[in-house]
Amino acid sequence: MATARVPHVVAPKSQEDLNSFRIAMHQFDTAAAKMNLDAGMREVLRRPRRALSLSLPVKMDDGSLRVFEGFRVQHNTARGPCKGGIRYHPNVTYDEVQALASWMTWKCATVNIPFGGAKGGIVCDPKSLSKDELERLTRRYAYEISPIIGPDRDIPAPDVYTDAQTMAWIMDTYSMTQGHSAPGVVTGKPTYLGGSFGRHEATARGCFFVIRAACNVLNIELRGATVAIQGFGNAGSIAAELLHQNGAKVIAVSDSKGGVLSKKGLDIAAVLAHKERSGSVVKFSGSSPISSTDLLELDCDILVPAALENQITAANADQIKARIVAEAANGPTTPAADAVLHKKGVMVLPDILANAGGVTVSYFEWVQDLQELFWDEDDVNRRLEKVMTRSFSDVHSTAKKYRVDMRTGAYILAIDRVATAMKARGIWP
Ligand code: NAD
Repeated sequence: MATARVPHVVAPKSQEDLNSFRIAMHQFDTAAAKMNLDAGMREVLRRPRRALSLSLPVKMDDGSLRVFEGFRVQHNTARGPCKGGIRYHPNVTYDEVQALASWMTWKCATVNIPFGGAKGGIVCDPKSLSKDELERLTRRYAYEISPIIGPDRDIPAPDVYTDAQTMAWIMDTYSMTQGHSAPGVVTGKPTYLGGSFGRHEATARGCFFVIRAACNVLNIELRGATVAIQGFGNAGSIAAELLHQNGAKVIAVSDSKGGVLSKKGLDIAAVLAHKERSGSVVKFSGSSPISSTDLLELDCDILVPAALENQITAANADQIKARIVAEAANGPTTPAADAVLHKKGVMVLPDILANAGGVTVSYFEWVQDLQELFWDEDDVNRRLEKVMTRSFSDVHSTAKKYRVDMRTGAYILAIDRVATAMKARGIWP
């Protein structure tokens, strides 16, 4: 059994309200006010359409019984079935899942893919559970949410501390309830079970494409640009690799155990190999230690928060020196920090744009599953590049038109698309 524990997130000290759902509401309200969205539509779009709250009993390896708490929240279905990941973390709360579900609605609309938003989560410390315990927990959760998920209803995907194996268990459990294999019920599956080539790298690759587009607009040469990345999991480590391969100098990376800094630039392949061996980036040879919070304040061109929420707050926003903050993570910047960064001229590439590559290739995976016709990786990456580059440009021009920051620009674009779909469909009955 694994013994390491998932740390509870230590956000920089701040007097602000760090409740993710209220932050999501604030972001929505800011954009809704700028675009003069009518009051009734605001009321509908502020609330989730449907939510499940679950008690999940699991037999542990030592014979004891434990009950875990889980959620699945479906925020909006105006533009298509719900889509959103499942998170395993001790800090998961209903409010966090609600916030993440609404961000999925806005994310899918920002990149213009035909999905609404959902999110799931289980309050647990996955690192302290054995693989068998994780499988039993996952299958129980999948069974409990199976009445509201499905290829035409709601399609889960991986998020923090869930992966292709988790998706394979969910796909199998759901398929058992249906009496036939239903690969289209989840995305982020292994490729041999109907997963898409390029999905594993998609969030980071999408983030890379929007960083490149932002560099073009801001006249920053990506080759030689300095980068700091907080979080070295799926999104962070692959973003580090892609930026490194494209000539940027990644000077610092961190994970839950700490961070490493090298002003000369880190050899990312070697950091990955070190993490593979030791379980962390910490003590990578030739680097000096740095905390995950100090990393945020480094003198660099591009900062990529790729861990969890509320990392850039009123307490440290003024100390951010990067010119671009690319939110690979969901919700890393608070509204108060947004205001400070905007005033300082920092371009924040908001989560609903910057990490939308993941859901975009999830959409491609779903399309391939439904067609039972699979594309090669170059094809997937080319399509992703097109979506991300076009979406950056859509968000940038909306932000310019309304004279707002990129986050509010993305929200305006997304809310308009969702509200237009809702008005055309009408409110039933
Ligand atoms: P992951 O589990 O693969 O990696 C999370 C990383 O964050 C790990 O390296 C972990 O050690 C690190 N971490 C945890 N707490 C930390 C702390 N306090 N300081 C520094 N590092 C810390 O998860 P992921 O899929 O890479 O997700 C990371 C973020 O990206 C999340 O906000 C997630 O919602 C978002 N995201 C992921 C995807 C995806 O496709 N994977 C898509 C969209 C958004």
